[in-house]
Amino acid sequence: MKRADLDWAHLPFGYQKTDWNIRYTWRDGRWDEGVLSRDETIPIHIAATCLHYGQEAFEGLKAYEQKNGEVVVFRVEENAKRLRRSCEKTFMAVVPEDLFIEAVFRVVNANRRFIPPYGHGASLYIRPLVIGTGPQVGVKPATEYTFLILVTPVGPYFKTGFKPVHLVVEDEYDRAAPHGLGDVKVGGNYAAGLRASLRAKQAGFAEVLYVDALHKHYIDESGPANFFGITPDGRYVTPQSPSILPSITNMSLVAIAEELGMRPERRPVAIEEIFHFVDAGCCGTAAVITPVASITWRDRKVVYAKSDEPGEYCRKLYRKLTGIQLGEEEDRRGWIRKVPPEA
Ligand SMILES: *Cc1c(COP(=O)(O)O)cnc(C)c1O
Repeated sequence: MKRADLDWAHLPFGYQKTDWNIRYTWRDGRWDEGVLSRDETIPIHIAATCLHYGQEAFEGLKAYEQKNGEVVVFRVEENAKRLRRSCEKTFMAVVPEDLFIEAVFRVVNANRRFIPPYGHGASLYIRPLVIGTGPQVGVKPATEYTFLILVTPVGPYFKTGFKPVHLVVEDEYDRAAPHGLGDVKVGGNYAAGLRASLRAKQAGFAEVLYVDALHKHYIDESGPANFFGITPDGRYVTPQSPSILPSITNMSLVAIAEELGMRPERRPVAIEEIFHFVDAGCCGTAAVITPVASITWRDRKVVYAKSDEPGEYCRKLYRKLTGIQLGEEEDRRGWIRKVPPEA
């Protein structure tokens, strides 16, 4: 296999055409065999429920080339389970876990030449998607669904890479309500967050930090990533809230923090606590760990990083997490799945 001719060290976090995507159709109560396609478009009924009533859920994970040349994915079972919850909550056909994993393996294999070589800080981003494609005009779940996966090679999510970013607290616009869809990965949450996110970017921040919609008092998460803060005695503190997306990266960092003796806490975190943290970060598949340089809240500001250097805790967590993903550290918990070449 000849690798694609790309500038692996300078990939943006954006869409780039690859050879294949994979699509499955759900009709009459079951999923079909799925087909690999070169087409970047999908024909869609003008009355499809995804267009009118937001029946859409997605996932995000990465394939890595490890130090020894092996191609792997990270905790793919967790993405499968989360997509199931997202489908259930939006009344869509559920993608069974084994079908999800098979689809990921098939599409990664078909695009092997786009997997960035080890050592460039890049990876193959995998974007699964379920949409209601059957027509409805009354508000009802569709009777037909499409499960599709596209892949694209990516560099870091924030332009700065592993450099601290500035956040601003968003306590005017809400991203998600406590008993709404904030805990599932649906596109509507991103539509709800665009206004706040664009306003923050215009003001020179990388992203917002949402507070909860009910009390406007507890930290929820950053737009596309979970949040954690580090206490002066080195504890890893991350918010618990019904309106944040359970991040698999965060779940993994909690386990890593435990191993590193950082006594992780998952609990409601009042916004004032930002002034007591000594280090903080945003985490997610796309963001990996993005260290937080400062947080601005109304007319107050707390600074964690005075230079472009990530804090000591962010660095330790980052090294351990990416070490496991890239095969530089032992995978003691079975988080890594090798992509079988025959899939
Ligand atoms: C996907 C996502 C995350 C990160 O989850 P990971 O499983 O770590 O990639 C965090 N917040 C939101 C809102 C998300 O959509």
